[in-house]
Amino acid sequence: ETRVRFAPSPTGYLHIGGLRTALFNYLYARHTGGKMLLRIEDTDRTRFVEGALENLLKTLKWSGIEIDEGVKLDENGEVTEVGEAGPYIQSDRVKAGIYDKYINQLIEEGKAYYCFCSKERLDNLRERQKADGLTPKYDGLCRSLSLDEAREKIANGEKYTVRLKLPKNTDISFEDRIKGKISFNTSDMDDQVLIKEDGYPTYHFAVIVDDHEMGITHVVRGDEWISSTPKHVYLYEAFGWKSPEFIHLPTVLNKDHKKYSKRNGDGMVEDFIERGYLPQGLINYLALLGWSPDSEEEIFTMEELAEQFSFDRVNKTGAVFDVRKLDWINGHYVREMSVEDLAKAIKPYCIKAGFFGEDYPDELLNLLAATWQSAIDKFSDIVDQAYFYYVDDSEMKWTDEAVEAIRTDEAKMIFDSFINKLNKVDEVDMEFAKSVMKSIQKETGIKGKNLWFPVRASLTGNVHGPDLGNAFVIMGKSKIIDRLNYVKG
Ligand code: GLU
Repeated sequence: ETRVRFAPSPTGYLHIGGLRTALFNYLYARHTGGKMLLRIEDTDRTRFVEGALENLLKTLKWSGIEIDEGVKLDENGEVTEVGEAGPYIQSDRVKAGIYDKYINQLIEEGKAYYCFCSKERLDNLRERQKADGLTPKYDGLCRSLSLDEAREKIANGEKYTVRLKLPKNTDISFEDRIKGKISFNTSDMDDQVLIKEDGYPTYHFAVIVDDHEMGITHVVRGDEWISSTPKHVYLYEAFGWKSPEFIHLPTVLNKDHKKYSKRNGDGMVEDFIERGYLPQGLINYLALLGWSPDSEEEIFTMEELAEQFSFDRVNKTGAVFDVRKLDWINGHYVREMSVEDLAKAIKPYCIKAGFFGEDYPDELLNLLAATWQSAIDKFSDIVDQAYFYYVDDSEMKWTDEAVEAIRTDEAKMIFDSFINKLNKVDEVDMEFAKSVMKSIQKETGIKGKNLWFPVRASLTGNVHGPDLGNAFVIMGKSKIIDRLNYVKG
């Protein structure tokens, strides 16, 4: 049975690249009928962020990626763990002493050693190596200590770490499912710290023990981990364990073709949720970020993705994050929504923008949604599109084209006729909205573009746009009169 895992370090928010990794794991699990695990890698206590775990799990849940085993949210939104191979949070595994026997085994067998070098010495060493143009690397001073000498130092209360004892000048290779054969020589590798001074395992040690204990068959992760993999491969060998298959996914690049990094706060999944992307849209787009189907098709449900997904169609090289394509795909899902659902979805954006309050009539809200359903790609788009119905005239913006259409004698005639007609009714209803242009045409003798452009331009600030009749109803009698008077100057 296939067992894959998403193993985030909850140091804040979930990055788009992390979600893509989780997705590819999930799709592979579903494709093969295997299991998707979630393990929390939190052994770096200096990077601990309160609430990050809940946030991460919530975001994953939003995306539609389901966790079969490990850490997840229960029906009440509480963090829980399911499965036989737990605990699934590394800091809990430390407390349970899970790593102790494994590190002791390596030390006993001479495959790892105690290191007593102070931070100061290591810092100096690193500086010197850098100054000499060398890649910083531990010089192996403590490799030669005997186990008895080391134990005596520990008994005397000396602080220590435990390091991996890599064999000298040895090639370590592995076969990556996507990138092919990858080889490193141990001369270019460091005697990796496995246990830190605080007694916690490093990522490199914990990941091996955990992937082994949890029966992981495929390690699917971002390709920034490639250079760590030889250490992992060596550790599997050192323990005599069967190594899982490695699949390193192409880096997610930004539009400048640089790594789309979380360091500049860019590309957090939470931001996409806040901007009003749909999970179906974001997931569909992320699936195409590094993977391509066997056809021209670009719109896929999660089920369809799971059915078609394979690592054979994952690219070797970086995948550029293209927000326009994301918008295009998300727009497809916006158009599939019911008007009522879309109305509910855009409401908070309108309220936040100050367009109206919580008590805005459903009828108008639905009309707003219906008007813009074919034009917005994500919910927040409504703010830029629909502002003209609601803003004060003094805050309106008109395009140059619109100004041109408004400033004619014909336009003034049209506005006067329109105001006249409005003054004769109590409110603008659909019937009035649908017939008023015809009446203005009759009265003024102006028709076609010469009639429609000034009206649209004056009210919406633009000479193009969606249904104008709907706009009359949404704006209402007094707002239209005010705006027409305002543009008449
Ligand atoms: N905890 C690592 C991360 O934050 C996981 C790397 C791996 O999947 O092995 O990305």
